Amino acid sequence: MADEELPPNRLQVATMRPDDSGRGLARLPRTMMTALGLGEGDVIELVGKRSTPARAIGPYSDDEGLDIIRLDGLQRANAEIGAGDFVGIRKAESKPAQRVVFAPAQKNLRLQGSANALKRSFGMRPVTAGDIVATTGQQQVPRGDLPPELRQMLNAPAYALQEIRLTVVSTMPKGIVHIDADTEVELRPEYTEAKEMRRADVTYDDLGGIGTTIDQLREMVELPLRYPEIFERLGVDPPKGVLLHGPPGTGKTRLARAVANESDAEFFHIAGPEIMGSAYGESEKRLREIFEQAGEASPSIIFIDEIDSIAPKRGQVSGEAEKRIVAQLLTLLDGLEPRQNVIVMAATNRPEALDEALRRPGRFDREIVIGVPDEPGRREILGIHTRGMPLKPEVDLDELSRKTFGFVGADLAALAREAAIEAVRRIMPKINLEDGTIPPEVLDTLSVTRNDFEEALKR
Ligand code: ADP
Repeated sequence: MADEELPPNRLQVATMRPDDSGRGLARLPRTMMTALGLGEGDVIELVGKRSTPARAIGPYSDDEGLDIIRLDGLQRANAEIGAGDFVGIRKAESKPAQRVVFAPAQKNLRLQGSANALKRSFGMRPVTAGDIVATTGQQQVPRGDLPPELRQMLNAPAYALQEIRLTVVSTMPKGIVHIDADTEVELRPEYTEAKEMRRADVTYDDLGGIGTTIDQLREMVELPLRYPEIFERLGVDPPKGVLLHGPPGTGKTRLARAVANESDAEFFHIAGPEIMGSAYGESEKRLREIFEQAGEASPSIIFIDEIDSIAPKRGQVSGEAEKRIVAQLLTLLDGLEPRQNVIVMAATNRPEALDEALRRPGRFDREIVIGVPDEPGRREILGIHTRGMPLKPEVDLDELSRKTFGFVGADLAALAREAAIEAVRRIMPKINLEDGTIPPEVLDTLSVTRNDFEEALKR
């Protein structure tokens, strides 16, 4: 990108902390805020390949003095930039909206319900048509001395028990607007294809407790996929294969998907056990087809889950089928040209059970270990999975993270889900089942309590 095309005020983009994301806030250096004449909570426009509004607030205390702007995954998607890129920053004005139309940004999601709750979920939050936004639940951010309207935005009640991603279909007036008490909000029930659909899916914000792993993968996978020319210029071959190892449920699949989304790469998922056991020759054919499609759609990431099931040590298997598949996989890996811009990621929880030939240079020669999360990691993961939930203030996520020693991400996600189900059980008597819908007043009172988590922990 040529320098002169960008506005003069530029900052390098870093990721937002997961607990703090999804709210349309941008954290930037105080020097930049002063230079632009910005107060806490003022609206700015982030200029990447696309423009999107945000509210500016000060940096995390650890970031004081750093020349970076922290944006969450949806903001990066909305501005069409990645972490590490530079984004232009302009002071902007947001007008009160007369009307805003939302629609689900996710397939297979039908929404019914209270546009009013939605209104509160996005109150004060600046948006522009085409943005993807996430509904928020009760927030647990250190909020310092924020102005009241911003505090209101942070405290916005949830729309549903789960975080939901919506596309802003249109606004009146056009441009940057925010929703206030007089705004008419319409919620279309069905999915509307957003331009950058892929990135409405998981991003780095949706992974807790693995910050350093994300940094490693960004260098290993995201950089070469996004800037192949740099690697070409340096005469360095980007890695072809990265092996993720760690116990089940630690987020390996989710991470591969997030890297693909953040790199704007196509994602191909191969379930190891599933591809096995088809008729003679079928599995190899399937592998060849996927590698071919990935090459055509590049940049691409091929993710092979449970790779040990398709490529166990050859000495240990008697079956001809396994041998043929391992041989096919090796051929396909060796045949990948750096120019093709395809990276294969594979996950296993038994790296020692893997055919050694796969781990030779030029194949899966990079390894990343993902372990069971520690207490701060569990806290971060709980924050992510309760992000869209209306939590009662007495719910103490710190305490929950202390009590959940040994839980992996999948267990913590299940815990949050169970607690939400407990909450739903409590309001069941108020729901007229014949009616089939939940009255908005009831939905609005729905909240997840400390006791719901206690009950969920007992299961
Ligand atoms: P793996 O591939 O390691 O078996 P997955 O990525 O399939 O694990 O994780 C299953 C689910 O568990 C995810 O969809 C997510 O809800 C949750 N999860 C696992 N790890 C994490 C994490 N580090 N942060 C947030 N959620 C996680």
